[in-house]
Amino acid sequence: MENNNVAPVALVTGASRGIGRACAIKLGQKGYRVVVNYNSNEAAAQEVVDAIVAAGSEAVAVKANVGDPAEVKTLMRETINAFGQLDVLVNNAGIVKDEFVLMMTSDTIDKCIDLNIKGYLYCTQQAVLKMFSKKKGSIVNVSSVSSKLAVPGQSVYSSTKGAVNAMTATMAKELAPYGIRVNAVAPGFIATDMIDDIPEEKREEYLKDIPLKRFGTVEEVANIVAMLAGDESSYLTGQVVVLDGGLSL
Ligand code: NAP
Repeated sequence: MENNNVAPVALVTGASRGIGRACAIKLGQKGYRVVVNYNSNEAAAQEVVDAIVAAGSEAVAVKANVGDPAEVKTLMRETINAFGQLDVLVNNAGIVKDEFVLMMTSDTIDKCIDLNIKGYLYCTQQAVLKMFSKKKGSIVNVSSVSSKLAVPGQSVYSSTKGAVNAMTATMAKELAPYGIRVNAVAPGFIATDMIDDIPEEKREEYLKDIPLKRFGTVEEVANIVAMLAGDESSYLTGQVVVLDGGLSL
């Protein structure tokens, strides 16, 4: 039975590192009880839980591969078991693999689509089932500036992020009658493990194209995600906020 007097609950997928970690901590600081989803790194996820608890909120770590629909159902069940409700879903877990179009393997295509598209769809379906009864909810999809900008080597990745933007708009329209908002943030280059793999000279090249002349931080993404998640953005739905230091202008 849901209790409306307790703190709202946010589930962040892929929250053991990078952008997801920063979002989980930010939402915890804002008073949400947080489900910290991870795929493999239990110690890192537990460290995120500890940081949220130290800041005065509640959190649990739940292992699930969100590209697997059965594991997503278990993740939602464990969310409800822990906190009794779900108010915010942050679809964040994603992978990037840069390959020239002729070198793209079926394995890369499958992995990117399974996590970056299907994972978002499975999590959203399950979350919406929990949000219906309350007639209120907020879903934030982490997209990418690569959905708007042609980056050589990212045919698969940019396709998946373009799909995220499309599902954000469609779901926003479908779910508005049920009080559920759906928005996305499209980060540019953000300093995380994901971009550590980019060779130094390539990074320098990218920096030249960024008007603000630096990569973004995970905290800067988390600030936007928290704004989109909460009532500060209560009249905003179906939008993709591009957070790229001006790169795509
Ligand atoms: P990251 O540092 O590589 O972290 C990825 C996170 O996803 C980890 O917590 C990882 O958990 C989790 N994960 C991986 N596979 C998973 C699965 N199958 N199920 C559940 N969790 C899984 O990534 P990031 O750079 O923070 O990127 C996060 C999101 O931002 C992605 O959607 C990415 O496309 C987007 N983005 C990033 C940038 C950037 O510059 N970094 C720019 C634009 C968009 P474990 O460690 O436990 O495996």
